Amino acid sequence: MRDEHPVSPDQTAAERAPEGALAREALALAAFDHVVARAPGFRAREGQREMAAFIAETLSGVQLGDDSVSSEAGRPQRGIAVVQAGTGVGKSAAYAATVIPLALAQDKRVLISTATVALQEQLIAKDLPALAALLPQPFNFALAKGRGRYVCRLKLDQLAAGEDAGADLFDGEGGSKPPGDAAQRTQQYAQWAIALDQGDWDGDRDRLGEPPEAALWAPVAAERHTCTARHCPAYNGCSYYQARNRLAHAQVIVVNHDLLLSTLGLHALPKPQDCYLVLDEAHHLPDVAQGQFTAHMDLMHSTWLERLPKAFDEVARAISHAHGVDLNEHARGARTALADLARLGMAAVGPAVRDLASESPPLTHRFEGGALPAEWHEPLAALQAHAGVLLKLAEALAVQLRANARENPGEATRSAEHYARIGRFAPRLQSLHETASLWMQAAEPGAPPLAKWLQAGVMHGMVTLSAHACPLQPGSLLHHHLWRHVRGAVVTSASLVTCGGFDHFLHEAGLAWDAAATTRAVQSPFDHAKQGRLVVVQTAADPKDVDGYTREMLDLLMADLRQVRRGALVLFTSRVQMRAATALLERGANTDLRERVLVQGEASRTALLRRHAQRVGEDEASILFGLQSFGEGLDLPGELCEWVFITKLPFASPSDPVGQARADWLKAQGRDPFSELVVPATGARLLQWTGRALRTETDEATVVCYDARLLRQAYGRRMLQGLPPYRLQRRQGRETVDV
Ligand code: SF4
Repeated sequence: MRDEHPVSPDQTAAERAPEGALAREALALAAFDHVVARAPGFRAREGQREMAAFIAETLSGVQLGDDSVSSEAGRPQRGIAVVQAGTGVGKSAAYAATVIPLALAQDKRVLISTATVALQEQLIAKDLPALAALLPQPFNFALAKGRGRYVCRLKLDQLAAGEDAGADLFDGEGGSKPPGDAAQRTQQYAQWAIALDQGDWDGDRDRLGEPPEAALWAPVAAERHTCTARHCPAYNGCSYYQARNRLAHAQVIVVNHDLLLSTLGLHALPKPQDCYLVLDEAHHLPDVAQGQFTAHMDLMHSTWLERLPKAFDEVARAISHAHGVDLNEHARGARTALADLARLGMAAVGPAVRDLASESPPLTHRFEGGALPAEWHEPLAALQAHAGVLLKLAEALAVQLRANARENPGEATRSAEHYARIGRFAPRLQSLHETASLWMQAAEPGAPPLAKWLQAGVMHGMVTLSAHACPLQPGSLLHHHLWRHVRGAVVTSASLVTCGGFDHFLHEAGLAWDAAATTRAVQSPFDHAKQGRLVVVQTAADPKDVDGYTREMLDLLMADLRQVRRGALVLFTSRVQMRAATALLERGANTDLRERVLVQGEASRTALLRRHAQRVGEDEASILFGLQSFGEGLDLPGELCEWVFITKLPFASPSDPVGQARADWLKAQGRDPFSELVVPATGARLLQWTGRALRTETDEATVVCYDARLLRQAYGRRMLQGLPPYRLQRRQGRETVDV
């Protein structure tokens, strides 16, 4: 730590202006010390200060701004602090109390991105107001939400007046059905319009008393393709643009990873090169990137293409746009190609599709190495060509409509209506064109192929079939789209280290070859060896013998559940396993246990957790059964979780097409996908799952894992290396011994 130039946050802005990297480092750390010294009830935590000092040092040489400036005194111009902060470190205070003062002193902004709504709410409702009260320099903060969370005033007014604003354009096309009849929906829209007019509602979907059903909300949601922005007649009263204006004045913006990645380059948020970026819960980033860059198209629903020629033609004629495109031919051509692809797709998925029920997991069919049978090429090429022509025309019409709105303000309403009419088709045309293009793409020599797969399911009793494609390496996507623009960032989570190192995360997140990235693992303040036990149970059946293992494990689990006196969490690796355990509770000798168990999916998560806390509060036993999302997101301190039972090592589903495609690619390179991908990813999940046990420095808990591969296999011992130092025990029969 350097403190040659300590700078107090009590100084004025001028005095505080950083003159160099050392001053910036000192300023950030002094600000942290200032905040923690004044925070009510604060207890000094070594790890938290270590994290703050590491961030201050890493960001001290960073120079933000569009124009690159040279580095000072050999310090890097970019700096990315990658920090694993064990549970209880207090990481949000460590980054917020350093990065925000650093940014304020330079008149720059901070973008904090998280993965979960819970953390966003904590930052907005608790952490940032507390920090703002303690820092001498005031700052504004705001939550950024996606455009679709806000109502589009223009569409709402049309629907509230009973007009068809294209709401039923895609009716019966695979989405969920809107509730009630048309008159009831019009009445609901009218009520929302009145609430907006009277100032009782600000147009934010999350601020409606009752969360609306998705199918009711979708027709009035703001959407990029149907919005002429400042040329819209409703622009001045537009909820989305009002929220965006508030963001423009906020010095700290809280966002989520999805929105961050989906708006890169769209100017909705500060440019990454011109702000400090904090990525909390950063272990989610690779998966979010993979999802963001996956293209997909619906192969079963294409009646919307029948309606397209009329809509495009009417708009083109209304604005005298001569296009020379035979709309009927291209729409028909696209429909025929989709029908051909659907037929090929059904044959590829196979007869199992006939046995699908609405609750069945979807069926997938992957094309190995991204190679398609020859008969797919012609319909894909036809689809790409027809969708491409229609998309180009949609874009040309949109350009002319925007120009008309700009040049003839008196025509703005008509132009906005036409624009919205065309814009409703644009995302679907885009998805056809993009997916068909990716499906036709052959792998570059030496480069990994794209993952290409089909997915079949059942919705409202009808079979659905969609085609998907995505690049195999989230890291290179993140490098290309995010990191090469970022100057200063903090990347943090409680689970970045897996199997004892950062390598897996850095590769997946695209930071492995970024010279600006430096890592630090900050230890949790918990005494894991004293507070927690990890008991590995030796079963007679091998976990690879799924039926035998599940039977034996469930018997052991039932016996262990009888020891629970307060709160416990049982984490299952599959819904089938969780159902089998629940069924066992409903018959024979275990029925008395059933009333103590709350099963994920039986009620909303909030309702289950409320019930759980209530029972524990009344000194009763309460046991939560859950899957991966419970293994990661639950915060159950003290008596709420004295036991965590892990039914099997949480390997990813073998049917994940992207995981399979990545494994194939690594194998083709002579590499070992199990060791490189599967073990680190499972180790990271196990770290999260075990992390549910100890949430505060006074908690005491036992983690029971029934999968003895954790001790027996070399890969299991690698996973153990990535876990905190619990007291480790082995149990066989009735005997439990320290390992
Ligand atoms: S500006 Fe866009 S989102 Fe807002 S009301 Fe107009 S069309 Fe809708």
